[in-house]
Amino acid sequence: MNVSELGKTVAGMGEPSWRARQIAEAIYRQRIVDVEGITTLPKAFRHRLAGEGWRVGRPLIVQVFTSIDGTERYLVQGEADGLTVESVWMPEGDEGEAGDTVGEDPEAGERPGRRWNRATICISSQVGCAVNCQFCLTAKLGLQRNLTAGEIAGQVVAVLDRQGVEVGKDRVNLVFMGMGEPFLNYDNFMRAVRLLVEEVGLSPQRMTVSTSGIVPGIERFAEEPPEIRPKLAISLNAPNDEVRSEVMPINRKWPIEAVVDAVRCVRLRAKERVTFEYVLLGGVTDQPKHAAEVARLVRRSGLPAKVNLIAWNPGPGIPYATPTVDAVERFRRALGAEGIPVYLRRPRGRDIYAACGQLKRTVETVSQQS
Ligand code: SAH
Ligand code: SF4
Repeated sequence: MNVSELGKTVAGMGEPSWRARQIAEAIYRQRIVDVEGITTLPKAFRHRLAGEGWRVGRPLIVQVFTSIDGTERYLVQGEADGLTVESVWMPEGDEGEAGDTVGEDPEAGERPGRRWNRATICISSQVGCAVNCQFCLTAKLGLQRNLTAGEIAGQVVAVLDRQGVEVGKDRVNLVFMGMGEPFLNYDNFMRAVRLLVEEVGLSPQRMTVSTSGIVPGIERFAEEPPEIRPKLAISLNAPNDEVRSEVMPINRKWPIEAVVDAVRCVRLRAKERVTFEYVLLGGVTDQPKHAAEVARLVRRSGLPAKVNLIAWNPGPGIPYATPTVDAVERFRRALGAEGIPVYLRRPRGRDIYAACGQLKRTVETVSQQS
């Protein structure tokens, strides 16, 4: 619930509407998990809320996997049906955003007593995914269900809490790049963004949403006020429609040109750039001729853009090969030489299956146990 929904609820209970602010402050900023613990409310009202069955619906972190590189992967469980999604905490992580943020931020200085100076949280928007990209492990789950706005924002609050993050002091980026396609759960995704910006206090300029190119979603996104929307990343992943349709069947519905046209409608903030994510599949999308095509495509789009390269992370049963270190480096240099801003995304938490496209494993394990 946002403040206005909380307001209606408390008004319905005959309480002054400003109690809604106190409740929002408690659950989103102070991250209190228990209604009885909201001490800014009168005791009698707290008891009444609890008695009537009101709870703080925070998803539960039921399992934690820790990588040698400091990344943590969480199995997060909703209350309704016990289905789980995954969220990832990456200390010093930038998910390829370093080009935007390094050295520009007054908050970037070291904070004493912290194990990290900045961090990135990656969250899920759906249980599974319906999009069926051939290289992605999440696709194997199919779509099980959408997450609610509370479940999406709740993942963030749960991770902030676990890591003791002080919003406004610590530098935390947020990426909607976990399980699922955010633009196929658009309303809940944007509701979550508004909760995270307005109630939790995170900056939309430090949030990035990634889409596989759902054109109607991009068109709706273009209508959002810039002060409340995340930055946009498009999973391009192939140099042309032919290859893209093969690795991302969704391209047959919305080909590259349609996606780029929709992206052109998004009013960008000053200095804002659109990110094209590009997964390098060994032999399939990582050749020099592909780099030349990508450079042309990005230039022709006329968009202020950058390219984030991601070396494909392997997964069981997926018939692709990891690109060689040389191929990755050649690709990066080729784009750079064409004047395209290009970044290489460091794989994080590969040893715990937390890297891009690997979020599925534990869901399987858990469902086998139950
Ligand atoms: N569904 C959205 C957001 C989640 S996927 C989307 O597809 O954009 C986040 C990123 O991980 C996407 O750019 C996707 O192309 C990439 N990805 C998927 N599987 C991958 C894998 N096995 N290795 C590397 N990147 C992968
Ligand atoms: Fe879904 Fe994104 Fe994976 Fe494609 S890459 S199947 S859109 S999660």
